[in-house]
Amino acid sequence: MSRAQGVRFISTRGQSPAATFRTALFDGLAPDGGLYLPDPLEASWLAGCAPATLVEIGTEIAVRWCGDTIARPTLSRLLADALDFPIPLVSLGVTDAALELFHGPTFAFKDVGARVMARLMAHLNADGGPLTVLAATSGDTGSAVAQAFFGVDGTRVVVLFPDGGVTPVQEAQFSTLGGNVQAVAVAGSFDDCQRLAKEAFGDARLRDRARLTSANSINIGRLLPQTFYYAHAALSSEGPVSFSVPSGNFGNVTAGVMAARMGAPIQSFVAATTVNDTFARYLASGRYDAQPSIATLANAMDVGAPSNLERLRALHGDDVRAIRLAITPSVHTDTQVRDAIRTVWERHGYVCDPHTAIGVLGLAALPASGGCRIALATAHPAKFRETVEPIIGRPVPLPAALAAALERPRLITRIDPNIRALTELLG
Ligand SMILES: *Cc1c(COP(=O)(O)O)cnc(C)c1O
Repeated sequence: MSRAQGVRFISTRGQSPAATFRTALFDGLAPDGGLYLPDPLEASWLAGCAPATLVEIGTEIAVRWCGDTIARPTLSRLLADALDFPIPLVSLGVTDAALELFHGPTFAFKDVGARVMARLMAHLNADGGPLTVLAATSGDTGSAVAQAFFGVDGTRVVVLFPDGGVTPVQEAQFSTLGGNVQAVAVAGSFDDCQRLAKEAFGDARLRDRARLTSANSINIGRLLPQTFYYAHAALSSEGPVSFSVPSGNFGNVTAGVMAARMGAPIQSFVAATTVNDTFARYLASGRYDAQPSIATLANAMDVGAPSNLERLRALHGDDVRAIRLAITPSVHTDTQVRDAIRTVWERHGYVCDPHTAIGVLGLAALPASGGCRIALATAHPAKFRETVEPIIGRPVPLPAALAAALERPRLITRIDPNIRALTELLG
């Protein structure tokens, strides 16, 4: 396919025709139930790129994915508008660092993907009918998607979350907006929420009637911007870099693998998880065995059936040995998380939230001699201050925007965990 049209997007299940960027973005899931992947990824072209700003590198990647669908200056403007917050690299000793992805409006890394995706969708839907963005969340996706689309004309956001399964701060961030954002508490777990969303997207009539589009980590529009910071951090470093990625649905580490395929100088990856260790068990045995999720301190990573594993498998020719070479698993208990929060504070004066702490714990699984080791810092510690403050023995001030959200009344609809209830709500 010509450059003008950008790369094609193919399904992980190989039973659907190749799609354009626009189709992949708006449909979310391929017709065969698979997830979209760009094909080809134009291997290695990033290796020859000079260091540049995040938005400049992002524009280069996005131009290749979108082709003529969106003009380069427009892409550049949309990306600059979405990524209007800093992504600093903070040193944690001689070879280690934390890449802080949490300075967006919801103070978690999902802002990066969600804000770019919302602007791409709003731009490409300029003369279409109203879209319903359906998002299942275990905590942070919901707020990132709600905030990303809040007030965007021609869009409605429906956030499905496990009733009582998110923190008060997370809940406040997506349930106090009102307007075009509807917060829906499901009587069940995050896996129930994810299953409901999958069922809704699998129902062609419902999908067309409600003009459903997905915004959770299965959407390629969220994965694309997540490749930017890996490429930017790797191209900005002098030696080779490795990443430890706190992982739940494995979208973030999948984006990292894509950045490496495109030529970003990255040596290796660790996927660090909670005791929800489906990935580690899959690598050890070669068999995929999803489990019900277990609640931990890092609740945005409590996923027993990581959806992006399907993409990782497809990217590696469904060869578990190839995935083992690319990604090392690292599994951590709540006790280890508490210890890491304390140790990092004592040694470096750096305050980690539980998700970031798992990223820092994962650093130990990366080679010490291999250049800069970067842990992705995925949430602001103030979002988890109930956990963090007793451990470090000092208050973690709440950012002003979070404090304001906590004061506002919650606007929540409650439903049973079945597709009938969701269909009715979607209208
Ligand atoms: C979602 C999330 C993760 C996990 O990212 P995945 O792409 O689902 O692997 C890690 N940390 C935080 C704070 C998150 O919100």
